Amino acid sequence: MLRFYNTLRNKKEPFVPLHPEKALIYTCGPTVYDYNHIGNFRSYIFEDLLRRYLKFKGYQVTQVMNITDVDDKIIKASKAAGKDIGEYTRKYIDAFFADLDALRIERAEFYPRATEHIPQMVLLVKRLQEKGFAYTRENSVYFRLSDFPSYGKLSKIDLQGIKPGARIDLDEYGKEDVRDFVLWKGKKEGEPFWETELGPGRPGWHIECSAMSMHYLGESFDIHTGGVDLIFPHHENEIAQSEAATGRQFVRYWLHCRHLIVEGEKMSKSKGNYYTLRDLLEEGYEPQAIRYLLLSTHYRRQLNFTKEGLTQATHSLKNLGDFLLRLRQSKPVEGYNQALGKAAKEATAGMERALDDDLNISPALASLHQLVKEVNISLERGEVGEKNISEIRGALENFDRITGILPAVEEEPLDETIRKLIAERDAARQNKEYHKADLIREKLSRMGIILEDTRNGVRWKREP
Ligand code: AMP
Ligand code: ZN
Repeated sequence: MLRFYNTLRNKKEPFVPLHPEKALIYTCGPTVYDYNHIGNFRSYIFEDLLRRYLKFKGYQVTQVMNITDVDDKIIKASKAAGKDIGEYTRKYIDAFFADLDALRIERAEFYPRATEHIPQMVLLVKRLQEKGFAYTRENSVYFRLSDFPSYGKLSKIDLQGIKPGARIDLDEYGKEDVRDFVLWKGKKEGEPFWETELGPGRPGWHIECSAMSMHYLGESFDIHTGGVDLIFPHHENEIAQSEAATGRQFVRYWLHCRHLIVEGEKMSKSKGNYYTLRDLLEEGYEPQAIRYLLLSTHYRRQLNFTKEGLTQATHSLKNLGDFLLRLRQSKPVEGYNQALGKAAKEATAGMERALDDDLNISPALASLHQLVKEVNISLERGEVGEKNISEIRGALENFDRITGILPAVEEEPLDETIRKLIAERDAARQNKEYHKADLIREKLSRMGIILEDTRNGVRWKREP
């Protein structure tokens, strides 16, 4: 039975969706003022595993991921760049989708943008006003926390410290600041604004997610995800706004991904340990290896991202790639290997047992590696029958549908592709980027290309 750890109750619970065989998921997406960093991608890859696994289990998934394309940070950055926010964010939205594709993250069904859903947000704020949960001060509208007694049920925050009527209207504020939060920000000089029934202004960050999730998924839905940093105040505020407006339970299961740290420290630009996906690709690492690494630690455990770990992930992928190639090239023998048949079934069953338990990825990957080991032994002994091969392929396809980590077995590469990679490797070596050069050599080796460094330059040949 599929179970998830629900932050709302701090325990694992069986997953029972609102509508049989459907799974409605809302995921807090990027604020597009910059490229996404690998921490963001850890969250998105966990959410990708969630959606892929639900699909594998037969659920019809509807996933919505918002794009925050107006907020304090975006306004500040676009001003500095001398652009309007639409022009400024376009580049980062495009980059976000390109990065998702590079990491084989499946597309959600909807990616609503905040600036395209202002009417839905205004409507929700008006509902809150009508029910007496909202009040206006100096053209901004605030949510009155003291009117919502169950505030704090997600984060278990202590309400004692709240000063009634204290207000905060920044998108970002410290965790200590439990105060009435802003729903609608009155127009300020030099900031973008919308003319609405609430007066000219722009939405607060929290109302965006409540309005867009309920617009696409209904007033109650199954799963809401995000990083742990969002539990308080963002998700707590989403619950307050939504449940105050509708009088119904907003979300049944809250799943939160623990943060990624880098080389044992919190990632930050000032410490120089901050990586976007692009930074790592630039250094020659492969997106598949990055995916493998980000996926392979359970989402509720801290992931310590290191270059060494990434190199290990690259090697694990190489081994998997070698294995897939060996399997493709193997000549099946007569008969059926019973033990291997059992191993293939057990691999899928083991993966399912593990992932049913709150997406426990480590034992799931262990079942994959166990299968690889057993098949390798049988291949060496020449004990793999035709039917075995198709069963093994079936098990591997299941793994790939769910994890998206199996490397594509490279087709015979074109000479032109090889020459291009060799030129890139040469350039890397000239720039003294030896690690990058090695990674390219490994990639070529996976394609079955052997390089020889000679006095007259690099020669290459195909593996016999
Ligand atoms: P943001 O663009 O900062 O709103 O973040 C987008 C998503 O990435 C949210 O779900 C965040 O919780 C998540 N996130 C941000 N930093 C990290 C990190 N270091 N590790 C994992 N997830 C993160
Ligand atoms: Zn959100």
